[in-house]
Amino acid sequence: MLKRLLHIAIALFMVFNCTLFVSAQDKITTVVIDAGHGGKDPGALGKHSKEKDIVLKVALKTGYYIEKYLKDVKVIYTRKTDRFVELKNRTKIANNNKADVFISIHCNSSRSSSPYGAETYIMGLHKDKANLEVAMMENAAILLEENAQDSYNGFNPNATESYIELSLLKDENQDQSALLAYLVQEQFKNRVGRKDRGVNQAGFLVLWRATMPSILIELGFLSNSKEEQFLNSEEGQVYLASAIYRAFKEYKIAFEKENAAQEEMQKPPTKKGNARLNYRVQFYTNTVQLSLNDKRFRGLDDVSSYFHNGLYKFTSGHYLKETEAKQHLKEVRNKGFGDAFIVSFDGDKRISLGEARKLEK
Ligand SMILES: [Zn+2]
Repeated sequence: MLKRLLHIAIALFMVFNCTLFVSAQDKITTVVIDAGHGGKDPGALGKHSKEKDIVLKVALKTGYYIEKYLKDVKVIYTRKTDRFVELKNRTKIANNNKADVFISIHCNSSRSSSPYGAETYIMGLHKDKANLEVAMMENAAILLEENAQDSYNGFNPNATESYIELSLLKDENQDQSALLAYLVQEQFKNRVGRKDRGVNQAGFLVLWRATMPSILIELGFLSNSKEEQFLNSEEGQVYLASAIYRAFKEYKIAFEKENAAQEEMQKPPTKKGNARLNYRVQFYTNTVQLSLNDKRFRGLDDVSSYFHNGLYKFTSGHYLKETEAKQHLKEVRNKGFGDAFIVSFDGDKRISLGEARKLEK
């Protein structure tokens, strides 16, 4: 599924770049840059450096480039100094400021000194143990928080089951997060010459409750001495920060062009009230329309499709209540669509889950 998403992301990006519409109403105007760890939490340790110091420098540089070159974007940092910030508060800063994008910056570490390279994560179910271990390492930060048991619904950063449950909750922004993550990795690979470890998924608490497209970047491995040297160099930090800046800029351009195109096609707004509210389980996306009886949908009931953000998206079921859709989500996932998630509609117009919940009340 992730591979497919990435292929779609590439196709989307090409389409966006060729789109001629220019008058966008929905723009990306706020980004939250999150330097991981800080204060009493040093993060991963290299031979002579700490993750918290490197990621702060790269975060500040990234924000500086965005502010300097994208005048219409407001940059908000979760921290600008060496201080401890709880994971939940990092997300809260993004949500409260209605940020359009959330970028969390980290460094990796491994028990072995050989792994190196950069990877970018989006929220989702891990595909292998290595990805799970990265999330476990990053989520361990909550062990330094007070009342973490309450704050994260009893989430245990060291228990595999917690991660499976966490992945059930996401994610209506997955396509967008995957596109941004892909653009970051392209920059790292093509412009900074980093080894590309790809776009991966895992359950990161810092991304969990973010209500906007969000990614977590692992710049490189502090456990690899050559990479530690690069990560600590001024040149390395400038390269990495400018790569993230360029990826963000490409994403912004793509998003805004796409929205302009959407505006053109927009139907008159539907009436208020919940008469038209419905939830569906989205399980598949493609750049072309497929028959609803396509053999890859076999075993799924009530399949329908809609066109959204440049893609044909396929759903199963129509439900008036989110709780019913959640039940159905489990069934769809059990049928082999592990990345399925819930989407909501006003009639046939896609709306955010937040809006749907308001209507449902
Ligand atoms: Zn980290």
